[in-house]
Amino acid sequence: MSKIKIMDEILANKIAAGEVVERCASVVKELVENSIDAKSSEIKIELKEAGTSLIKVTDNGIGMDKEDAILSFNRHATSKIKDESDLYNINTLGFRGEALASIASVSNVILKTSQGDVGTLVNIKGGKIVKVENTEARKGTIFEVTELFYNTPARLKHLKSLYTELSSITDYVNKIALSHPEIRFTLINNGNTILKTDGTNNLLKTISSIYGMDVARKMLEINNEDDDYIINGYISLPEVNRAGRNHIITLVNGRVVRNQELNKTINDSYHSYKPDNRYPIVIINIELDPSLVDVNIHPTKMDIKFSKLEELLILIKKTIVNKLNKQTLIPIIEQPINDFNEPIVEEKAIEHKETKEELIEEKLPKIEKPKYEEITLDFNEIKEEETKYEERLPLLYPVGLVHGTYIICQNEIGMYLIDQHAAKERVNYELFLEKLSNPVKDKIPLLLPLTIELSNNEYIILKENFDFLNSMGFDIEEFGINSIIIKSHPIWLTKGFEDLQIKKIIEAVIHKEKNFDLAKFNDHLSATLACKASIKANTNLSINEMEELINDLRKCHNPFNCPHGRPTIITFTKYELEKMFKRSGFESLK
Ligand code: ZN
Ligand code: ZN
Repeated sequence: MSKIKIMDEILANKIAAGEVVERCASVVKELVENSIDAKSSEIKIELKEAGTSLIKVTDNGIGMDKEDAILSFNRHATSKIKDESDLYNINTLGFRGEALASIASVSNVILKTSQGDVGTLVNIKGGKIVKVENTEARKGTIFEVTELFYNTPARLKHLKSLYTELSSITDYVNKIALSHPEIRFTLINNGNTILKTDGTNNLLKTISSIYGMDVARKMLEINNEDDDYIINGYISLPEVNRAGRNHIITLVNGRVVRNQELNKTINDSYHSYKPDNRYPIVIINIELDPSLVDVNIHPTKMDIKFSKLEELLILIKKTIVNKLNKQTLIPIIEQPINDFNEPIVEEKAIEHKETKEELIEEKLPKIEKPKYEEITLDFNEIKEEETKYEERLPLLYPVGLVHGTYIICQNEIGMYLIDQHAAKERVNYELFLEKLSNPVKDKIPLLLPLTIELSNNEYIILKENFDFLNSMGFDIEEFGINSIIIKSHPIWLTKGFEDLQIKKIIEAVIHKEKNFDLAKFNDHLSATLACKASIKANTNLSINEMEELINDLRKCHNPFNCPHGRPTIITFTKYELEKMFKRSGFESLK
């Protein structure tokens, strides 16, 4: 019996139109997804010239009989979707009924396929069958695509540089390999292996194949669930981060999806652990009952809406925040290890391509931004698990100061360098955030009341916020035209910096955003005030002052980063020091 059904016309029309094949990567995507659907445990992708002269996909899947082999190039053939309700099953990879037909119409395709007995070879060029014959009986399917776009010069011209084509293919194969750690993937270009996964269903090993051992060692496993969702996967230590969001990968029931809300929540969970313009490497699989998603079909993409999105976002955020809160996050300075066994995927190649959102991304199912109001998750609500913050940073003993900027410390584990500005900034930030979030009425009268002159529009905005400033602990009054006078201020302002900090607060209040979010406002204001009030570089601290600062830092919720995400502390372990000075025997090297 033929496994490929001819779709009924309504369905065909629904998914028709949209050009499926635009780039080498879209050809690779179609062929690889066919191989996955054919239950392959091994998929090999061979390219020449980034796919522009050859794309060959070899799998060990179930193969096709002669009838299906020929029918698979039929415009409306698909084995994936039998009726409309299948379209709503998120587990199917897609609806590529016409993909093979499209590919075959713009290239020269040789298909060799077998279910284990006699094999079939079909050669189609420009959409016309050139030959059909019997061939060897190797179970599985081989698709060879050459002369891509030979008859559509416009499309050929549209192809980007070989580098860009290869980047988008690599990007796609990386993602599909991460979503299928049980499949052994090989990606080769011009004879060079770009990616090789082992198919042992070990996600961490797949991560290692893609990002290298160093990154894999710095990934933290996460698992959590609530009544509706099960999430699991890996998140990078904050020190491992990238210039683009491209490495935040979310899977829904094993399928790669793109969703801004999910990405944003994942990234926000790292707030203040890393600079805002850097992004973590995260692979999260979300398992849920398909009835919790609303799938909206479009020929080239799939929009998904979660019916309990907020719940999911809270679960993800809680899981990541709790995981990070339990770690000691001091970056260890290591001597680069030249391990020739490491995969050849070059970090540079990965890094480079994230500067642009590749077209292939658009082909991935997209989850549309939910129609509800933007959801703001309360960070404070989420920290429900007890963490003994003091234990996150080990005991450290200061020995001196370099360049008036870095405190050198030591303990039995190794040597540490603390950036005194960043450390003080963190201490002040957490203090101010605490005070702003839980305002008390204690205030200090100013000996000399402070008069501030404003422009007329600033004055009007500020006047509307007198109550807000009062609640923070200010006594504030109008004083002539466009001027205010401040008679007392909250008790927690830093001695010697009061005037400056008051001006900063006034400025922040005037520039409050339209959709004001108190938590965000407090966070931002705390960071600004902290920076202003913190010791500048080239200030010499006494050992006592250093000890005090370290103690304060140890009490912080996150002692590892300044509020802007820069590290406060780095370490050279004893082991690394010995290695650098060649003190440890060569045999003890990793
Ligand atoms: Zn600063
Ligand atoms: Zn900072």
